[in-house]
Amino acid sequence: MADIREELVKYGVKIVQAGLVAGAGGNISAREGGIVWMKPSGVAMDEMAPGDLCGMDLATGRQVEGAHKPTSEVNMHLAIYRVRPELRAVFHTHSPWASGVISSGATLKPMFAEFVCDLGRIGTVPYITPTTQALADAIGKVSETSDTIFMVNHGLIGLGITMKQAYYRCVVVEDAAKSQLAATICGTPVFLTDSQCRDLMALDAPKHRIQMMQKNG
Ligand code: 13P
Ligand code: ZN
Repeated sequence: MADIREELVKYGVKIVQAGLVAGAGGNISAREGGIVWMKPSGVAMDEMAPGDLCGMDLATGRQVEGAHKPTSEVNMHLAIYRVRPELRAVFHTHSPWASGVISSGATLKPMFAEFVCDLGRIGTVPYITPTTQALADAIGKVSETSDTIFMVNHGLIGLGITMKQAYYRCVVVEDAAKSQLAATICGTPVFLTDSQCRDLMALDAPKHRIQMMQKNG
């Protein structure tokens, strides 16, 4: 298996290429045992090398590896891992289309199967000043019952058993926002009903998809 830091750097590049962040926006982390590797603060995700990453002790919150200052959302990442010990990846993006829809008063809702099958449970937090302990506390709380988190006037977070799953959640949200916007411009979006969502989740295909997303690599 590739070194966790190399894999995190690879996903940083993919997130930039997918247009989910601009400049140094957003931050990503991956957990290996009791150490959480994070993006350095103020660094673009496609401009970091494995050696630039910051290693944080999950239990104490102390930096144990790396010369750079960790992301300013360090406490938000740690708060999520502390309440969800099964998670290995937390990807926070400022996805422009999704952030726009989430912050418009409209609700980003399922129009397609990917939304239902890939995002897991969705939580939303109101605007809270970025980088603060108040934001970390609110995100820690909502993470107890959410796998994808919408952040009003800020962005979103994809949680994952693997980095692949966290990444897929981020890209699926952005695509859903584009489709919802297109439907709103062209006419009136038609959303999947609760019973249509339930029928989808009862199929074998979503279970297989989830298994594939939760395989490393
Ligand atoms: P960092 O560069 O400190 O990670 O900040 C980016 C961000 O997304 C703050 O919410
Ligand atoms: Zn942010």
